[in-house]
Amino acid sequence: MKNNKIDIKDLNKEELASWLSQRNISSFHAGQILKWVYLHRKDSFDMMTDLSKNLRNLLCEHFEIKRLDKKNIEVSKDGSKKYLFTLDDGNHIESVLIPEKEHYTLCISSQVGCAQGCKFCLTAKIGFIRNLKQSEIISQVRDIQEDINNPSELTNIVFMGMGEPLSNYKNVIGAINIFTDSDFGMRFSNRRITVSTAGLVSILPNLGKDTKVNLAISLNASNNNIRNTLMPINLRYPIEKLIDSCKNYSLSPRKRITFEYVLIKNINDSSNDAKELATLLRPIKSKINLIPYNAHEGSDFMRPNRDNILNFQEILIKSGYTVFIRESKGQDISAACGQLYCKS
Ligand code: SAH
Repeated sequence: MKNNKIDIKDLNKEELASWLSQRNISSFHAGQILKWVYLHRKDSFDMMTDLSKNLRNLLCEHFEIKRLDKKNIEVSKDGSKKYLFTLDDGNHIESVLIPEKEHYTLCISSQVGCAQGCKFCLTAKIGFIRNLKQSEIISQVRDIQEDINNPSELTNIVFMGMGEPLSNYKNVIGAINIFTDSDFGMRFSNRRITVSTAGLVSILPNLGKDTKVNLAISLNASNNNIRNTLMPINLRYPIEKLIDSCKNYSLSPRKRITFEYVLIKNINDSSNDAKELATLLRPIKSKINLIPYNAHEGSDFMRPNRDNILNFQEILIKSGYTVFIRESKGQDISAACGQLYCKS
């Protein structure tokens, strides 16, 4: 049965502190409470043994500490796991847990569906349904950590699931603050969190000012002609604007911006495209991730053959770039980049 209680994960520390002060309770307890939620991962106020019984009862009356409803978990033969969650309003989201050599990376969603309409991406076909709440973003990490034998092995978080994180800015930042807080929060390192954006130039500078997390830009083309056909956002913020914004981005020393480039056969994979890309990124401290296109029923695009991919990479390497080919994991369970669709 539904109730009117607020998920306490929707509040930041200051909001909880002021909620307490309004009731003449010391705001000092805010940190204590959040430590129980995030550090000790307790799901019940009754377990918060250093709080008075009265305070615990009061918290129970107004708040809850929710878990997401895990509707389905699919396991890929490469070890990655795709989680399908049902939200309170019946909507669905997906997150993907990716095992690496010595740690796990979790790819999380920021919205139900997505408004960007990128032509190569299956999530785009859902359209935009709604922003995720701060609690729903946090819960993907908090809940999936519980499934790992040693939860501290989940060290990396990437906002590369469903949705455009910068268009749900407030809740994404709220969640990042909880992830990285070293006192009461989940103690993730800023260096191990990456926000990926299709290029929302109006919001981009804020991310550099408000956080120290890594930035990834889904570029996917090296000129406006091609990018316009692949990513409608380019009509609003053309490549020059995006590159300018990256140039001015407040980047910590030694850090670089990651540019993601989905390689699609005969669309953006020629030697000329690679050369143009090398010139375009010259003014920016960058590294490049090439993502060979992951096929799905929603489109006719194809991935280039291996030689083309390697040739594209080589041109960029010869121009002095660090370039990785990112073979997305979980393709057999539709958990790879651009394949999240919530088929239940
Ligand atoms: N909206 C954000 C977050 C999603 S990230 C963004 O655009 O960055 C998802 C990443 O997967 C993006 O870099 C996107 O370019 C890539 N992608 C989408 N569809 C893909 C597909 N079919 N094959 C390979 N990569 C894809």
